[in-house]
Amino acid sequence: MEIPKMMKAVVKVRKERGAVLETLPVPEVGPKEVLVKVRAAAICGTDIHMYQWNAWASQNVERSYSGLPRIMGHEFSGDVVKVGSEVTRVKPGDRVVAETHIPCGDCYICNIGEGFNCQHVKRFKNGVYAEYALIPEMSAIRFPDSLSYEEASVMEPFSVAVHGVSNTSVVGDTVGVIGAGPIGLFTIKLAKAMGASEIFVSDISEYRLELAKKCGAKYVFNPTKCDIVKEVKERTDGLGLGTVFEISGNVKATKQAFECLRKCGTMIMTGLPSEPLILDAGSDIVWKAAKIYGIHGREVYKSWEITKGLLGSGVIEVKSLITHKLDLFTEFDKGFELAESGNAGKVVFLVG
Ligand SMILES: [Zn+2]
Ligand SMILES: [Zn+2]
Repeated sequence: MEIPKMMKAVVKVRKERGAVLETLPVPEVGPKEVLVKVRAAAICGTDIHMYQWNAWASQNVERSYSGLPRIMGHEFSGDVVKVGSEVTRVKPGDRVVAETHIPCGDCYICNIGEGFNCQHVKRFKNGVYAEYALIPEMSAIRFPDSLSYEEASVMEPFSVAVHGVSNTSVVGDTVGVIGAGPIGLFTIKLAKAMGASEIFVSDISEYRLELAKKCGAKYVFNPTKCDIVKEVKERTDGLGLGTVFEISGNVKATKQAFECLRKCGTMIMTGLPSEPLILDAGSDIVWKAAKIYGIHGREVYKSWEITKGLLGSGVIEVKSLITHKLDLFTEFDKGFELAESGNAGKVVFLVG
């Protein structure tokens, strides 16, 4: 395939709401790098923060990413078109997705085999909302032939849900999912597939609660209309839930999530609150003997292998949760407006 000199890209240029369509050089490929022709790219919560340029973005973009200007996006799938001289993991023609956290490979955490949570974890130098994306060799992951590019583009957030569910046992037990955005919806499907008895879901978007029901939730609640803790207690003989997944990142919802957790239950925390959380350590944690796990990204490559098995075999389908497919270069503003409205499952951009 002929690789052009220039490419279209959706770029975050200024510290204000929005993004800009630009024409940029196609990146040069270093010895351990892989150039991918982007086919599909999804919108993640962090992309919305960056697009809006909210408090999270102004605190984190300079620190965790390499500042602005920056090509947006990180969840994607595509075809390898060129590899560096030292690359052995993939070859041109391979269909790939990408792990987006890059471990240093040499810190204490990396050395104990937990590199996904590396002390010096880095993100891609640039994003993937472009015709071509440059990624480190170790990030490239081939995906099953049975998956389309758009399905593959959500494997990265799906693998976050896999990481969460892998840290608890839900077989024959009750589950709560607080926040029914894409990771919440994937979590419902996973809990269902893994034999959860009853799944309780809470979200402020009626659209998402409908999707949650389709994914297998037995009870759905809108916290602006009812007292979730009371509803859960009434339906569990006052016991509470065996595992609660907190994915909303809302501090009030997180406090309620702890109150819904039963004695000896497991709290899986994936949501990132933008303000400090206040808990009653006695009743919320200590007397309950609660187990608490924080989920940062994926277990590399374990979560990915589980995702390949579940999606590649068709045991879990994600197509129905990709509620909107749009053209990246002409419809990116529309995509972000949809994603931030809550009236969407996963929004995926298709790239020519
Ligand atoms: Zn993401
Ligand atoms: Zn490290």
